[in-house]
Amino acid sequence: MFGKPNFDALAFGAHPDDVEICCGGTLAKLADSGYKTAIVTLTSAELGTRGDSETRGREFAEAARILGTSYHKMLDIPDGGVSCAEAYRLKVVREIRELRPRIIFSHHWESRHPDHHHACRLVQEAVFFAGLPRIDTGQEPWRPYKLIFYFNRFETEPDFVVDISATFERKMQAVRAYRSQFHGEDMDKYGDRETAISHPGFLDHIEVRGRQYGIYIGKQYAEPFVVREALEIEDPVALFGPSSYYSVP
Ligand SMILES: [Zn+2]
Repeated sequence: MFGKPNFDALAFGAHPDDVEICCGGTLAKLADSGYKTAIVTLTSAELGTRGDSETRGREFAEAARILGTSYHKMLDIPDGGVSCAEAYRLKVVREIRELRPRIIFSHHWESRHPDHHHACRLVQEAVFFAGLPRIDTGQEPWRPYKLIFYFNRFETEPDFVVDISATFERKMQAVRAYRSQFHGEDMDKYGDRETAISHPGFLDHIEVRGRQYGIYIGKQYAEPFVVREALEIEDPVALFGPSSYYSVP
């Protein structure tokens, strides 16, 4: 019923920097493997305490370049106003049909920022509606093969983790590209109010989380993911190699 995919992986984030923090290492790893990746943000983060949309747009472009993505775009859904309104759903449906990704990454449903919570639902609905031929956007319908949720704050049992030891440094470079948001040398340029993510410890948190999930699989760094449906495995023998079993000595 559906044609061929165009992109391999598309990551949605409510705001520029969400994707980099939560699955930047995985996106860089996929790009290194020759996969075509994309990042789309729902908003331009105009409510952000530090910096402005224009600055954030430049930082986003730099981060996307560092992660080796082939496409990046900011949608114009209002920051702080992400919802499943039909107009917003259609914007996301259009992106999905344009990019025709095999897999999609998006926010987990439990998150501190209300936009993240709504983004989870919005992307989930858009993935469904993108596959319905009678939702008319003038494009061919497309149904991604899997919707995968990322998270970084609340405790959630991951369904799988991805080893990002080889790309962790690039992930952090992409995060630090948001110079208006995170602690760095010239951050005074972007305002004097400290936020939950502008204090120096926040970058350490990202590293600690990476190490924590790395421990799960005996690797240096990893990123955790959740899926809603059971994971079908065609060939468990081929999937599991000697490194699948890890026990702390
Ligand atoms: Zn966010």
